[in-house]
Amino acid sequence: MDISGKRAMELLEKLNFTRVAGSAEELRAAEILKAECESAGVEAALESFEIEDAEVETATLEILEPFQQEYPVTGYKCAKNTYQGGLTADFLYAETPVDLARAEGKIVLVHDFLRVPLFRDLMKARVAGIVTLEGDLRDDREGTDLSTRKLRRTLRAFGNVPAVNIRVADAFDLVSRGACKARMVLKNDIVERTSHNVVATIPGTERPEEVISFGAHYDSVDFSKGVYDNGAGSVILMELLRWFQAHPPRRTVKFMWYGSEEIGLEGSWAYVKAHKEELKDHLLMINVDVGGPVLGRDTIGVTACQELVNYLEYSAKVRGISTLVKQQIYSSDSIPFADSGIPAVNFCRGGAKGAAYIHDRFDTLAFLSPEALEKTARSVLAFSQDMVNAAVFPVKREIPENMVKEVEKYLYKKELAEVAEEK
Ligand SMILES: [Zn+2]
Repeated sequence: MDISGKRAMELLEKLNFTRVAGSAEELRAAEILKAECESAGVEAALESFEIEDAEVETATLEILEPFQQEYPVTGYKCAKNTYQGGLTADFLYAETPVDLARAEGKIVLVHDFLRVPLFRDLMKARVAGIVTLEGDLRDDREGTDLSTRKLRRTLRAFGNVPAVNIRVADAFDLVSRGACKARMVLKNDIVERTSHNVVATIPGTERPEEVISFGAHYDSVDFSKGVYDNGAGSVILMELLRWFQAHPPRRTVKFMWYGSEEIGLEGSWAYVKAHKEELKDHLLMINVDVGGPVLGRDTIGVTACQELVNYLEYSAKVRGISTLVKQQIYSSDSIPFADSGIPAVNFCRGGAKGAAYIHDRFDTLAFLSPEALEKTARSVLAFSQDMVNAAVFPVKREIPENMVKEVEKYLYKKELAEVAEEK
């Protein structure tokens, strides 16, 4: 029994469909993964959790002055709805926070992605509505999609106003024509949906109470088949499961395929919340997120002590594994584990610029190969075998201070504490 890129690719072909958080297709993918575990001889279970979603009924943006034109937009889920007749207000393109001094009561087009610092500034400036950008000036309308974004709870802690998302090409058009007054309409209803984690366990032969967990998210975003991100990681995990099933591990290995990662790591947050007691036994989390591009490069992001970084670097060189090793946090399911004090190692194979696409309709099997999948799978296997079967577990069960700070920054803990204080 050996790792096989070919077999991994065959499973990836079965997962080659859009699998949005909480959708019937996401559940279908979970069932495919569960069946695959069972065909490999390992029992698997689906663990469900609730997620917040919304149905957007109407979202429009119309420029009223100095010309009149409506532009196609998508509405932000969970953003505040406009009142009857919509929101009519002056329009402003806010390039930097300097412009926010004159943004009160206006519909504001922002230059950057909506993250906590920008959103907090917009709420402080008391804007009436928000417009964000997506895409590329070179996009053609038929060949690209405009995604429906969500105002996550973290953002809504700072306030809520109607928000829509517009193509870069349309934003270019309206700004260059001097748009100064607009009307926005948003109507959406919040709904609860159910998402699932797939969980499979192979008990350790000698130290069953010590657990090493493997994670990969299997959901995708709208319009994307999500094979690179992260069907690839999902099938690499399955190869690892097959390997450890054939070569019984000294310590217990758990395999988790997380749902709803793309909407804010919901699956892994749900897991750490539901398994607080069990987490005491977790020594290490090994995450795989993005893989398979022919023109790509393997990286290992270590959210753990420097000694482990050095070990991975040495081990890669000794074994001739072509990979870059860095101490870092990684925006994926390893975060909730690191936040719970469990060291985490992230394996990823990112594509060269222009040779891989993420979060859109261009994330397809066309730029992936079985050989590339196998390369990453072998790198994960080499490291995890060392850890799972170590005579004495060598990794300190702690997150170093610099990584704790990074996790706190990533989760905007300081900003959230400040806003909670204000309330
Ligand atoms: Zn991902």
